[in-house]
This record gives sequence, structure tokens and C-alpha cells, in this order.
Amino acid sequence: MIQLETICALATPQGIGAIGVIRVSGERTFEIVNKIFKGKDLTKVDSHTIHFGTIRDGGVIVDEVLIAVFKTPKSFTKEDVVEISCHGSDYIIRYILKLLLQNGCRMAQAGEFTQRAFLNGQFDLVQAEAVADLIAADSEAAHKTAMNLMRGGFSNQLKALREELIHFASLVELELDFGEEDVEFAERDDLKSLILKIQNFLKNLIDSFDAGNVIKEGLPVAIIGPPNAGKSTLLNVLLNEERAIVTEIAGTTRDVIEDVLFIEGIKFRFIDTAGIRETKDVVESIGIERSKDAMRRAEIVLLLSDSQDSNEDFISEFDEDKIIRVRNKIDLVAKAENVDGLGISAKNNIGIDELKAAIVAKAKMKKQADTMLTNLRHYEHLVKANEALSEVLNGLDLGITGDFLAQDIRLSLHHLGEITGAISSDDLLANIFSKFCIGK
Ligand code: GDP
Repeated sequence: MIQLETICALATPQGIGAIGVIRVSGERTFEIVNKIFKGKDLTKVDSHTIHFGTIRDGGVIVDEVLIAVFKTPKSFTKEDVVEISCHGSDYIIRYILKLLLQNGCRMAQAGEFTQRAFLNGQFDLVQAEAVADLIAADSEAAHKTAMNLMRGGFSNQLKALREELIHFASLVELELDFGEEDVEFAERDDLKSLILKIQNFLKNLIDSFDAGNVIKEGLPVAIIGPPNAGKSTLLNVLLNEERAIVTEIAGTTRDVIEDVLFIEGIKFRFIDTAGIRETKDVVESIGIERSKDAMRRAEIVLLLSDSQDSNEDFISEFDEDKIIRVRNKIDLVAKAENVDGLGISAKNNIGIDELKAAIVAKAKMKKQADTMLTNLRHYEHLVKANEALSEVLNGLDLGITGDFLAQDIRLSLHHLGEITGAISSDDLLANIFSKFCIGK
């Protein structure tokens, strides 16, 4: 275990709350906290116990607190850790942190607790990054994806496959030591089938990236329809606030507006678009192109019309599966008239719940894998590892010499290793952990 300075930080959010939790981790944790805590001697208590007492600054009682004790290696960082639960006043929290600093702690940097957990082998890099995702998760699906990654997700399988590849790499490299002699320790057919196996695994992960990102960012929904169909009005009703500008002049919603909305725990990203009527107005033509572009990006399209004229010409190039046909302004329609698609009135809030249900139903039809890639860093390394493996396969087919094979195998091992942190540089770690909040 690497011994580092003892660090402290507020682990709960800044600001006033009922309770604030201050975390301390490092070799000198108990020695330092003992100096300001009047209760039990923390070096003498068992791990995973909680102790009531007071934090004192000489004769001043700063607060009554509860201290949770975690002894190395059974703690988040694998170091000696305490968590001081104090009253959540800014003043008290600052006071206790000041006392900890005066007695030998240093303030933790962003993500430093998690970084130590990683460096001490608590988990790999994918899992550490999943901790950040878990904290940031704002929907059921994002939570599920992050939790899966944190609990091992694809890491263990990836590590096992990498080990197998390392074994082959060493056999190929051994051949190189024999120079001129024509020996082959690494059975080429076995190497080939291993690579195909790994590539299959990588490809599934790579393919899951789009779906994974949709979960993190929200399922894109485009509202498409001619000018004045009521797109802005509908978006406003859905968002329940006046964010888009509603106007009676046809073709004035020229910019694409995006807004996030949760329906039944699913995250949606609504894209409002300019009207799709063909026009000579240059600015509006740009808007029409944007509408088409929005439709391409959207997973769900609300095709809005305010009459029986449909937009069928426009949509013929798009995937039927993602379209929900909506007829707006049914308040203006005589009761006897038959309405195509889902009838709503955005202005009078009629049929909106039914529309939401239809959106949720479409979202649920999208298939989701258990393990999903959500991190761009992982994605890029997987793609590069996969490319290097294709080079190995090419090389095998062409019967190239072991030294070239070894180079490509090493390259793919490098990329696979960077994902889980089996290979890591200080820069990489600093970059990853600096994105965490302080106290994490
Ligand atoms: P957009 O160009 O598609 O974004 O359309 P807007 O949302 O700007 O709406 C155009 C006009 O239709 C506005 O005057 C709205 O008040 C009106 N409108 C929208 N929804 C309804 C509705 O359900 N019934 C009626 N009668 N008018 C509506």
C-alpha cells in the first residue's frame, strides 16, 4: 500500500443541511482526530463502529458529533478512515476542517479519496469512473448502468481476455528470442480464435455506446410539423413552463431548442424545430434542414399536424418505428370528425397524458443491454484496441513475422489496459479524478 499524507474534506454538499459529513483518510487519521475528539480513543475501538463525542478546540466545544471508524484495509480508500457527522452549519464545518488542518491533515483534492481507492486496488479505473457516474445519475436507467459498471460490469471479463492475450504476446515474443531459428510457440490458430473472441466482446461494447449515451444524456425526441401546428405550444405544455417563444406568425421558431424532461423516471431530451413547410425564405430553409437533422438524431419523433394534411412526403426517408403521429388543435375539430393518430390540444391541455404514455411506451420498446458503455474514454480505447486486433488478424492471414505481430498485439494490450487502469499514467489519473467533486 502506498502511504500518503492524511487528507480531509467535506463529503456532503456545500451549504446548510441537517448534517455535514467530513471525511478523513490516511495513515495518521486516528492520531489527528484523537487530538480534537473527546469521546473514545479511536485507536482502541473496533473497525466499523460509531462513536458519540465532542469536537473541541482547547476549552471550546465546537460540536457534538458521531464518528464512524473504518480501519485499514476495510475502508473505501483501504486506508484508515473516519467520517465525522457534525451539524450541517457552514461555521461548524469550516471550524472542524480548520482544526483537522492545524493538527496535520491536508485538504483533499477533487476525487482524491476515489483515486486512493483505485491506487490501493479497491477497484479498477472503470469502476472508479462509475462512482462519478453514479453520483451524477439522474434517472433510473442511468443509475442502473452506473451501478452495473461500479459492481464490475465488463471490467472482469475484459481483464480475463487481456490476460489470455498477454499469454500469447509472451509466446510470440519468446519466438523473437530464438531469432533465425524457425520456431512457433504461439499456435496461430488458437491466437486467431482468441482474437475473434475478444473482438466479438469489444464489438458488443462498442455498439452499446450509442444506447449508453442516450441513457446518460436523455432519449432525443423531436417535435416535427408545419409552421403553426403548435410545436412550441406542445413543448411548453410538456415542460410546463414558457421556455420556447410561441408566436402566431408562421415560421418563427427558427432555432432548435432542447430541453430535458423526465417522464416516469425516463430522461428525454426534447428538440423543438422550425416548421417543415418548404419555403423560399433562406433563414427558414436552414430551419428545415435542421428539422431533418433533428429527425435523424431523434429516437422518437412526434409528428405534429393541425389538420388532416399529413407530413408524409417529408417523413418518407425516416424510420417509421420512431414516429408518433399527433393531431393537434382537436378543440377546433367537430366531434363527429374522425381524427388520424393521437388527438390532442396543446393549448387546452387535452390528451397530453395519453401522449406522454405513448412516448414512454416507445422508449420502453428500445432494447437495452445490461452492460452499456457510457464513457467516451472507454469507447475510444475499445475502438483502437479493436483496430489493432484487426491488424493482428491481417498479419496472421498474410503470414507476417512474429515481430510485427507482437507490435500490434502490444498496441491492443496497451489500449485494453488503459481502460481498466492496468496501465495508467499520472496525467491520465489526474485528468480523470479532477472531474470528481472534492470529498469524493
Ligand atoms: P409552431 O409554429 O408549430 O411552433 O406553433 P405554435 O406553438 O407557435 O402555435 C401556433 C398557434 O396555434 C398559436 O397561436 C397557438 O396558440 C395555437 N395553438 C397551439 N395549440 C393549439 C390548440 O390545441 N388549439 C388551438 N385552438 N390553438 C392552438
